[in-house]
Parts: sequence; structure tokens; C-alpha cells
Amino acid sequence: MNLIFLGPPGAGKGTIAAELKKKLPLDHLSTGDMLRSEMKEGTELGKMAKGYIDEGKLVPDQVIIDMVEKRLAASSGNVLFDGFPRTVEQAKALDKIAKIDAVINLAVDADVVVARICSRRICRDCGAVYNTNWHSGETCDACGGALYIRDDDNESTARKRFDVYMEQTAPLIEYYDKQGIVHTYDVSESTSYVAEEVAAMLESGK
Ligand code: AMP
Repeated sequence: MNLIFLGPPGAGKGTIAAELKKKLPLDHLSTGDMLRSEMKEGTELGKMAKGYIDEGKLVPDQVIIDMVEKRLAASSGNVLFDGFPRTVEQAKALDKIAKIDAVINLAVDADVVVARICSRRICRDCGAVYNTNWHSGETCDACGGALYIRDDDNESTARKRFDVYMEQTAPLIEYYDKQGIVHTYDVSESTSYVAEEVAAMLESGK
């Protein structure tokens, strides 16, 4: 089974994906995490991607498609795609290599996600996501790693990323709606109920 998480930056894709992974045997494929790991290692791909990421723009399609194809070759299947596809071009490329069973669409508006992004903290060691509204410490509860603020988690880049999402990624909702596989969840107030509902929906086969 392959799932796609759609939703603007800050909607809670990473957090919900981590919850869902506890319930279902899914291989979490986050193109944002993959790019951040390339940047951390200082690879050519990482250096090239950084320019786009810091400006809130999308990394070119072919770079992302090649990276995902390579990663999928090493996957055992049952993939949860987080942050991919982000354009119709990427969705068409994915159609050729994997069958998508469900698209989880997280609906939320700009002001909510920008506020969430500006108070987001990430664990440098395990990638766990925190928010200063409900977590006040500077270390990760799970592994003790130091928490940091992503370079692209500031208000102006967050607004730019939201606009890019609306322009280039939101059309995918219609793309997958035509296949009848979109399930929409409102995450304006909370994301905590979504993993359970998605797991129940998948188990009931609807
Ligand atoms: P994320 O962690 O998913 O918010 O991604 C962080 C940044 O990485 C995005 O703002 C883009 O610059 C880049 N990125 C991640 N996934 C993709 C993708 N599928 N296509 C193009 N750029 C991406």
C-alpha cells in the first residue's frame, strides 16, 4: 500500500506520518528530510538544493524524481510519501513507478501554518518535531538531542512556501480526486486525531 500526504508546509505532515508509522508498517519517504540530510553531509545535491530551499522555492522536478527513484529501489514497498509529489510533473513520474492507494489531504489556512512554522523546533539527532507552544525545553524528549530552527522556518519564507504550495502543489488535489482516492482532514485546530482516523479508514478499506 502506498500513501501520499498532501498539505501546506506546517500542516503537520511529518508529525502525523510519525504517528501513523506506529500503527502501520510504512516506509516513511520524506523528500524534505532527504534533502536536509544531503545538505548536512555537504553533497553536491545538498549544496544545489540549499539555494532553492532557503528561498522557499521548489527544487527542480528531475532532481527530486531521480532522488525518489533511487530511494524507492531500496524500499520494501508500503511507502508513505511525505512532501512528494509537489508538482503535477512529479505526480506523473510517480504514476509510472508506484500505484497510489490513498491521498491524505491536510486542509489548513495560511495564518495557522505560518504561526506553527515560526514556533517549530526540530531534533538535530532524530528529526522529532516540537512546537514552543507545547514544548518549552531545548532538548528532544525522545533522544535528548539538541533542538534547532530550520533555516527556512521564518515568516517570510513560510509565506512564500505557502504561496508556492497553493500554486504548484494544490492542483494535485484535483489530479488525485479524479482517481477518487483523496481523503481530506481539517488540521486547523489539531493534528492529533488524524493518524487514528487514517488508520481506521485504511483498515476499513474505504
Ligand atoms: P519540507 O520539509 O517537505 O517542507 O521541504 C522543505 C523544502 O525542500 C521545500 O520548501 C522545497 O524547497 C524542498 N522540497 C522538498 N520536497 C520537494 C519536492 N517534492 N519537490 C521540490 N522541492 C522539494
